[in-house]
Amino acid sequence: MKRHFALGAFLCFCFAFPSQGGEFDAARHKMVEEVSADTAATSSYSGSSALSPRVIAAMERVERHRFVPADLATVAYLNRPLPIGYGQTISQPFIVALMTNLMKVKAGDRVLEIGTGSGYQAAILAEIAGSVYSIEIIAPLGNEAGDRLSSLGYRNVQTRVGDGYYGWPEAAPFDAIIVTAATSHVPPPLLKQLKPGGRMVIPLGTQFMTQFLMLVEKKMDGSATTRQILPVRFVPLTGGH
Ligand code: SAM
Repeated sequence: MKRHFALGAFLCFCFAFPSQGGEFDAARHKMVEEVSADTAATSSYSGSSALSPRVIAAMERVERHRFVPADLATVAYLNRPLPIGYGQTISQPFIVALMTNLMKVKAGDRVLEIGTGSGYQAAILAEIAGSVYSIEIIAPLGNEAGDRLSSLGYRNVQTRVGDGYYGWPEAAPFDAIIVTAATSHVPPPLLKQLKPGGRMVIPLGTQFMTQFLMLVEKKMDGSATTRQILPVRFVPLTGGH
């Protein structure tokens, strides 16, 4: 299914991309339209036929071409993942929007991201939330993303290099948690750091099995429910856990 979306994106992009470099607004708007169409097409899986206005505004505002290697800037608004070095990827825009939408982040929320990568997802979250904490295990990627986010003016994002499996206990509890690498189970430290009433979006599965994007909701009594959303393909959550 993802392949189908990616192909649609490519065909659409060929007609939409501006011929002059430096002005990506039209391409970004086209990308958001396509992500919205993908959202409607997958509503039977996600339970949501439209992105919230907050998510749309964030996707329109954040300049994805600033989060990819310079030689990929001209393809930054394709609706597909792109390599960012160290064997890692910046996620497909549709998946970024879907995960953000599922988190139901509001102004003032405190959000944790595991897997900073390029910093793009953190920037999308920072446009909506009060504060974003993001952890990356690959030091050069994490440091570069931290510098990028501060040079773009995101004062409400804190980044750290480390194993995100253990979360960020000093900054907990979080209203929402997003994990952008696949793992076989919900890490117990992350569930513990989620507020009662909070939401976690996480891809579950291994590199060699079908992975599913899951929505975990922590109830007020501390118990959790999980709902399977979509089959996905993410890089693995690494680390010593
Ligand atoms: N959110 C990123 C973005 O917007 O560019 C994309 C994330 S990429 C799909 C997954 C990231 O998770 C990679 O950068 C990878 O190094 C990181 N990662 C994998 N295992 C991790 C762990 N245990 N703790 C923190 N980060 C981890």
